[in-house]
Amino acid sequence: MNELQKSIIYLNGVGPNRHSLLKNEFGIDKIQDLIHFFPNKYIDRTKFYKINKLSSSNSEVQVVGSIVSLKTIKSKSKTRLVGEFSDDSGTIELIWFRGHKWILSNLKINTQYVVFGKINNYKGSLSMAHPEMELLTSFKLKKRSFNTIYPTTEKSINAGITQNILRKMFYEVFESYSKSFRETLPTSILKKLDLISNDLAIRNIHFPQNIELLAKAERRLKFEELFYLQIQILLKNYNRKTKIKGHIFSRVGDFFNIFFNKHLSFNLTKSQMKVIKEIRHDVGTGRQMNRLLQGDVGSGKTIVAFMTMLIAIDNKFQACLMAPTEILAQQHYKSIKALTNKLGLNVALITGSTKKNNRSPILKDLKNGKINILIGTHTLIEDSIIFNNLGIAIIDEQHKFGVAQRSKLWKKNSLPPHILVMTATPIPRTLAMTLYGDLDVSIIDELPPGRKLIKTVHRNDSKRLSVFNFIKNEIIKGRQIYIVYPLIEESKKMDYKDLLDGFESISRSFPLPDYKISILNGRMKNDEKEYEMNRFIKGETQIMVSTTVIEVGVNVPNASVMIIESSERFGLSQLHQLRGRVGRGNSQSYCILMTGDKLSSDSKLRINTMVKTNNGFEIADVDLKIRGPGNLMGTQQSGILKMKIADLINDNELLNLARKSADEILSSDKNLEKKSNQCIKYTLSEIGTFKNIWNYIS
Ligand code: ADP
Ligand code: MG
Repeated sequence: MNELQKSIIYLNGVGPNRHSLLKNEFGIDKIQDLIHFFPNKYIDRTKFYKINKLSSSNSEVQVVGSIVSLKTIKSKSKTRLVGEFSDDSGTIELIWFRGHKWILSNLKINTQYVVFGKINNYKGSLSMAHPEMELLTSFKLKKRSFNTIYPTTEKSINAGITQNILRKMFYEVFESYSKSFRETLPTSILKKLDLISNDLAIRNIHFPQNIELLAKAERRLKFEELFYLQIQILLKNYNRKTKIKGHIFSRVGDFFNIFFNKHLSFNLTKSQMKVIKEIRHDVGTGRQMNRLLQGDVGSGKTIVAFMTMLIAIDNKFQACLMAPTEILAQQHYKSIKALTNKLGLNVALITGSTKKNNRSPILKDLKNGKINILIGTHTLIEDSIIFNNLGIAIIDEQHKFGVAQRSKLWKKNSLPPHILVMTATPIPRTLAMTLYGDLDVSIIDELPPGRKLIKTVHRNDSKRLSVFNFIKNEIIKGRQIYIVYPLIEESKKMDYKDLLDGFESISRSFPLPDYKISILNGRMKNDEKEYEMNRFIKGETQIMVSTTVIEVGVNVPNASVMIIESSERFGLSQLHQLRGRVGRGNSQSYCILMTGDKLSSDSKLRINTMVKTNNGFEIADVDLKIRGPGNLMGTQQSGILKMKIADLINDNELLNLARKSADEILSSDKNLEKKSNQCIKYTLSEIGTFKNIWNYIS
């Protein structure tokens, strides 16, 4: 057996108690796990601060200087020993509350020391209490460079597992087990990417010799972690593609061709063509397609979805389209019905609010195959929805659906239908392929020609009057306006009040009969919502006051202004989605971000990003940096993100390299049979003995 697979209980000082604590708190069970328990902080003891550059926010610092005087100060309860410590830039106080005798007899005045500790600021004067001290002469001899700090938890601290105890465990591992450190990456990769060996990396991550080697160690270990993540994703995808059979759409027939040649009123963009090609290829292979389509708001995903459905119908299959909200489902239903008008196809809509009387005939026609396309909300995954022959399921706005819901669609036919999920929250390609590891990725990366950029501005509440005047002018030009209020789950009541207050004040500024206003919120009944929405769509009302229920997909080309109230309370991708509701027609559109005076730095960054760019990829990038990737996905997937050392967002360059390397290895040696790849096979088998991250999502 590999020595590193031994339990840490074999280490000195680790008994059953410490073992179970380390296992529960940090997942450290075997020596192998301990080796991969990395410091989360290094204190650079090669670096010296000048006293005039210190501030109390420096965590722990070291300073070279000398004690110019030492005196004992007595106050009511305590006696302090205070040393004045100076370098050529300034003076701080060193303070001791205990051990005065020893210090007075051992410390030398006017002799150079290295002092190390935390800086406190008391009424403007800086001090260090109980510093670590060492004579500069002996410090120089010891090649000290970095202090490692390992993660702690409340329990580990209470159980007395100190940094020193951890360090001792590492000393022992390096003394007794380092013979077993194996190389886990093929030599060719190490050479090509100039990575240091596993052995050197592990030593330097725990006991860095210098900052250069520490950086190299981090790079190597991050790469390794990302590489094995990618290898696993690719192997899993390979298995899916070879093992899961799918319906074959062998031909492109009349529906597709007639629509494309006669009814399509614009030219597809290059990106749209490319994606349709990718889809056509997938559905012709005999394997199940499982594809993610990313495209910015307004990039024209719907038409791609529709033409994909036509291919299914041409091959005698049914199609369905699932939307995250009722309003969006209705809207899709209307636009797809309009597209199919001249094709003579049968389209139906089912949502949670479809009455039983209307529902039964739809269910019947779905089962006997009369209905070609079914559109709906997540109602579609209910067991009562039975298709005759479902060939493809399309899911709009992926982030609202979890993997579990998606997999329910798989069971709607004897062979699972092809699946296309569409999202308007685009993220970098490799990241998408990692987060949605079970999906292939297509990207529409251009907007249809002739789109005018939406002008975005930030306005304080104090500018409300001029904003209202601006709205009046737009309404005179015949345009329509959205005004959106935040509605955040926890504080629903208060937000609801905000919305109603807002509605009232807008009604006062825009009185009948000149102005007509719609109001929409999540508490309204569905038919009320639909009624208000329709009045706005038809142009009967000029202003739509709403909560974020209109966030995704709503399409009213005549609306040219989006005003977002308390916009500092929205997330970036939500702001971008809302802005995407305007700019859908020919006229210049505007987005006005209203905020209060005081903004947190994150809010400022979000607002400035919105003002600066219209590009969904750039926005998603900033959003990821603010929020981290966890929020992108359902909680059940977040297990993937528990990386030990790499960071999927900040290490994007390494992530790309890892993907590329993994791809190259597997494309020439799928079963990892080459001698040079045995280290990969072995490492995978070891990973397999732990809980595999992909268990979380399949
Ligand atoms: P999204 O990707 O946000 O779902 P839509 O599919 O709703 O975008 O498309 C936005 C608008 O652009 C629609 O009115 C659609 O008809 C139009 N559109 C889509 N593709 C093109 C194109 N290639 N040329 C011109 N207009 C297009
Ligand atoms: Mg859409």
